Amino acid sequence: MNTTHLKVCTECGTQYPENYTGNSCIICEDERQAVPQSGQSWTTYEQLLEKHSVKIKKINDTLYEFVVNPRFSIGQRALFVISESGNLLWDCIPLIDDEVIEFIQSKGGLKGIAISHPHYYSMMKMWAEAFNSIIYIHEKDKEWVVNGGNSVEYWKGDHMNLWDQLKLHNIGGHFEGSSIIEIPEMSEKGTLLIGDTMYLSPSMKHFATMRSYPNRIPLPLSEVKRIEKRFEEISFDTIYGFYSYQNVEKNAKEIVKNSFSKYE
Ligand SMILES: [Zn+2]
Ligand SMILES: [Zn+2]
Repeated sequence: MNTTHLKVCTECGTQYPENYTGNSCIICEDERQAVPQSGQSWTTYEQLLEKHSVKIKKINDTLYEFVVNPRFSIGQRALFVISESGNLLWDCIPLIDDEVIEFIQSKGGLKGIAISHPHYYSMMKMWAEAFNSIIYIHEKDKEWVVNGGNSVEYWKGDHMNLWDQLKLHNIGGHFEGSSIIEIPEMSEKGTLLIGDTMYLSPSMKHFATMRSYPNRIPLPLSEVKRIEKRFEEISFDTIYGFYSYQNVEKNAKEIVKNSFSKYE
């Protein structure tokens, strides 16, 4: 695929399609993100590949993280889940290279990509095409999909079972379609990959849930209460967030509970 002319937003890492004629990034113009003071700027996949690569790190036997190194745009990680009936990529990053493709192939390929919300759509089309995989996105975020090609499958409702007990939950809040994935077998009481549906603080002792984290826009109290209830209903002891430091491998449920108790 020739991608030299495709615009990639330097602020959020979203790659736009060939027929995109706009001069601004719709993701960054939304109140939940920001266009930098210096104005909108663009790069391309090829330019990024000259100075960046995908760094692979093992988290446990069935979980790896991929990040763009050195950091580019938001700096999120994608999480690669190894599973019996097919591997899954949770969230996406604005780069793909030969090394990560070879790594994934050595682990049995990639059956599907599931993305928490629009800030991590990034280069999902290139990723899906590299492995011929489906991209699972909640239909409530459909308006934000600018470059998914034919790979996107929209799912509906509160939750959806994928395969091997992998289960998507639409939580909402940050974005209407904001979703998490539950992996019951990854830890004793279950593991959640949450993207930024909640944001783990650097203290590792508090999860915030907001409409916008960079712009500090809160959610209505009724929404926070609704989200609290959703997390109460799911079994888990482990949470992995969107930044590399956000690994809570014990007592995650207690930390979530304590965090929500601040809203009383
Ligand atoms: Zn952008
Ligand atoms: Zn976000």
